[in-house]
Amino acid sequence: RGICRFSTAVANEEPITPPVQVNHTQLLINGQFVDASSGKTFPTLDPRTGEVIAQVAEGGAEDINRAVSAARKAFDEGPWPKMTSYERSQIIFRFADLLEKHSDEIAALETWDNGKPYEQAKQAEIPMLIRVFRYYAGWADKIHGLTIPVDGPYHVQTLHEPIGVAGQIIPWNFPLLMYAWKVAPALACGNSVVLKTAEQTPLSALYVSKLFHEAGLPPGVLNVVSGFGPTAGAALCSHMDVDKLAFTGSTDTGKIVLELAAKSNLKPVTLELGGKSPFIVCEDADIDKAVELAHFALFFNQGQCCCAGSRTFVHERVYNEFVEKAKARALKRVVGDPFKKGIEQGPQIDSKQFEKILRYIRSGIESGATLESGGERIGSKGYYIQPTVFSNVQDDMLIAKDEIFGPVQSILKFKNLDEVIRRANATHYGLAAGVFTQDIDTANTLTRALKAGTVWINCFDVFDAAIPFGGYKMSGHGREKGIYCLNNYLQVKAVVTPLKNPAWL
Ligand code: NAD
Repeated sequence: RGICRFSTAVANEEPITPPVQVNHTQLLINGQFVDASSGKTFPTLDPRTGEVIAQVAEGGAEDINRAVSAARKAFDEGPWPKMTSYERSQIIFRFADLLEKHSDEIAALETWDNGKPYEQAKQAEIPMLIRVFRYYAGWADKIHGLTIPVDGPYHVQTLHEPIGVAGQIIPWNFPLLMYAWKVAPALACGNSVVLKTAEQTPLSALYVSKLFHEAGLPPGVLNVVSGFGPTAGAALCSHMDVDKLAFTGSTDTGKIVLELAAKSNLKPVTLELGGKSPFIVCEDADIDKAVELAHFALFFNQGQCCCAGSRTFVHERVYNEFVEKAKARALKRVVGDPFKKGIEQGPQIDSKQFEKILRYIRSGIESGATLESGGERIGSKGYYIQPTVFSNVQDDMLIAKDEIFGPVQSILKFKNLDEVIRRANATHYGLAAGVFTQDIDTANTLTRALKAGTVWINCFDVFDAAIPFGGYKMSGHGREKGIYCLNNYLQVKAVVTPLKNPAWL
């Protein structure tokens, strides 16, 4: 069994000093940075070492109240929903320009707090973040209702109005991209926002939200509360003055969020939850390309993607060759300090996820899957894990059923399309699927048969701002991104006017 070639380097080298300073650690409420009402703080940690980067204000229920009041006032009395949609779009465009100008610092903060490779953050994620804000800035002045012909002497029109105060809760795996998917459409539609960031990654949202105010966002329109789920998060979900909730995170927490929303004011909820996405390699596939894409589909972002291709189904005729090559590819994966050039994989987010992933690896071994490569931690500090490949994985093993959220590839064998469709769909999740084939009929058959919100054919993780994203089944409710997301943040008002004075007036 191979050992990842960067293990000693990570263990022995001092971490690189991040090229950025932490300037904002307080809560952002009504356009001001403020301490938590309780005065409490919590540490945010560097996943490379487990050491403290900074103490951050720990928002609780009282701070959520302050933030919701500010957002309510900004929505009910402030200029944001009343200004022209063109003016709103210009503020969002100016913010996107500032993101571009500060992209080095933003990427560095994201890497420091999250552990993702700096080059990937800089070259892929920050441009995507900017694209999302420009995309929705473009929508801001194109949102309008309809004129509807009816059976009677009436003029009927619909007004598409902002819904009000949006409460948004995001996870730690793509802190800024999740921020963009939530904040950009909500603000483009004219809403105000209270955003609770993940407790593991509070820093980058505070930094960029300051830039948003520099771009001209009025105070109270965007409030950012750092803090924990059961306190700040739950208070936001239960708040009677929050008109809409959007959540990304685990399926278990999604159930709590939905319950809290239902028990308070029945606010509508969109949920972006977990997944166990199949990646299907057909017998006609170019194996070298399929290996590379399946590797990317699973290992990207340290395996911490809700849509990770975490069940690699390979046709029996090409299975052995695929496994050998997948193992060789994993052994070549470059793991190390995410600030170093050429690094493909950094540390996992924290000790909790790190321990959980190692438990799943042990479970894979104990349940009889073949460990082809990896399987262990790298070094003695931080949360680095060897890129791990299992073959001979069976559908009923935990590693094939649960969301591991780490660098662990499970390779399963299949015989024919009907069988792989049935097995791929035999999960409570339905977020995404990947298909690798050269046959258009196979592609069409799988595209229609797979129960997933996204099907990527001969590609994976293509995330343009215009492409809707969301889940079937227990992977969530509703769609984010694209035109579909706008409806989450709009009310439709029907206005009916007689064409001439009716007889009874
Ligand atoms: P989580 O669901 O616990 O946390 C996500 C967000 O929800 C965080 O901001 C958290 O503070 C908040 N939260 C937690 N409890 C809450 C509550 N009671 N009320 C309101 N908000 C609450 O997820 P996690 O602990 O960060 O990760 C655990 C698992 O979630 C992962 O292993 C993975 O399976 C999944 N996950 C999925 C995604 C995704 O993009 N779909 C992202 C991150 C994690």
